[in-house]
Amino acid sequence: MNDALKSHEETFRDSIATVTKEGKRKWIYPRKPSGKFYNARTIVSYFLLAFLFAVPFIKIDGHPFVILNVLERKFIIFGIPFGPHDLHLFALTMIAIIVSIFLFTVVYGRLFCGWICPQTIFLEMVFRKIEYWIEGDANKQRALKNTPMNAEKFIKKGSKQLIFFFLSFIISNIFLSYIIGIDTLKQYISHSPFEHSGTFIAVLFFSGAFYFVFTSFREQACVLVCPYGRLQGVMLDQNSIVIHYDYKRGEPRGKIKKGETQNYGDCIDCNLCVDVCPTGIDIRNGTQLECVNCTACIDACNTVMDKINRPKGLIRYASKNEIETSKRSIFTPRAISYTMVLILLTTVITYMLLNRSKVELSILRTPGTLYQEQPGDKVSNIYDLKIINKSFDILPAALTLQNQEGEIKIIGNDLKVEPQGVTEAKFLVILPKEKIKQLKTTFKIAVVSNGKILDVINTAFLAKVKIK
Ligand code: SF4
Ligand code: SF4
Repeated sequence: MNDALKSHEETFRDSIATVTKEGKRKWIYPRKPSGKFYNARTIVSYFLLAFLFAVPFIKIDGHPFVILNVLERKFIIFGIPFGPHDLHLFALTMIAIIVSIFLFTVVYGRLFCGWICPQTIFLEMVFRKIEYWIEGDANKQRALKNTPMNAEKFIKKGSKQLIFFFLSFIISNIFLSYIIGIDTLKQYISHSPFEHSGTFIAVLFFSGAFYFVFTSFREQACVLVCPYGRLQGVMLDQNSIVIHYDYKRGEPRGKIKKGETQNYGDCIDCNLCVDVCPTGIDIRNGTQLECVNCTACIDACNTVMDKINRPKGLIRYASKNEIETSKRSIFTPRAISYTMVLILLTTVITYMLLNRSKVELSILRTPGTLYQEQPGDKVSNIYDLKIINKSFDILPAALTLQNQEGEIKIIGNDLKVEPQGVTEAKFLVILPKEKIKQLKTTFKIAVVSNGKILDVINTAFLAKVKIK
């Protein structure tokens, strides 16, 4: 820390901004932000919200674009169905996501928190905007809080709570549609809730949870609960780009007074950057766990700099090294190695996705069985067959012998695999004895569906027969 900050009182390290000395919650009334970054974030968040709300309604060939049914382990992502059989893809994708989170955070800090995180978007761009609209800016909200209950307060507080619960209910329904699909949700909505009481109770529970988070818990979710926020300490380094106060330019801070000649830095100690902060911190104390990189303090400070005719960017996206040396260095050895791992993983996943077949087959001789004598001077072997149908359609299947005279007899019903289903069956391969010249005869079995060969599998037939 530089000398200027060393001299600054460091009481901020002893407590968090949202808790009083007595350990009680201190309610934050952030001033309504405005400025270039806030406008850009509003556009990005509206686009993301539109995407979130539109996706359940999108269909490809009559099938949902996205389904994340964790309960039945059925997933459709960008129109491609996935199931438990794609565990390897899922594991690799999770690793790639974790690496990209690390990479992104090492290089760009908490950009995700400020611009993409659903918690920030819903809180700052939906619920908080409604609050400003109904109750006014921070000072008016404070005044309303301290006013004894009257008709105006009752209407404002009551309507806000009603709208908040209604929105929470809509959000939990949208999340539910990602699990059960929009068609099933429409069906449920058109019936009495008691016909699907389990789902209805779950929706009410999640509506209550969202209502609690956005009405009351708010920034505590980022400060106390979010694991990503708590990992910042190990992911950020001196070159990570986060929201920084340029203490070299700003210090010593001081209010400008008419006729005073003292040589201050650019910070006029107006406290506007603290007033707009939704987590109640003072970014001039340096990078802190509570900072969700929402950019509100950048906009606030830029407005001040404009007014006092100083260059913008006293608070800006920058790394600690950049502030100290005025040089930006993003691609450190750590960032480069994460990038290499990420490129490798992405290439492997893309290759696996492009070469992912719609059907997976396995044919194995049933272990522990010998050959069986069959009428008509024939012998048979018994085999296990497993077919995984990864497509949206029912898959009728038939088996035929390739390059071998003989027949195949399926034990049980005809083979038919349900969409996203697995079928296991046993079948006999029956060969004429005169065709068997050795203990192990190798041949191929083709799996055919709707006249199309799905796969050809090499297998072996074991039998000891006397050659006449
Ligand atoms: S808004 Fe800018 S000038 Fe005002 S206190 Fe914050 S850093 Fe200083
Ligand atoms: S310090 Fe600035 S960027 Fe960080 S949370 Fe507060 S207002 Fe947002």
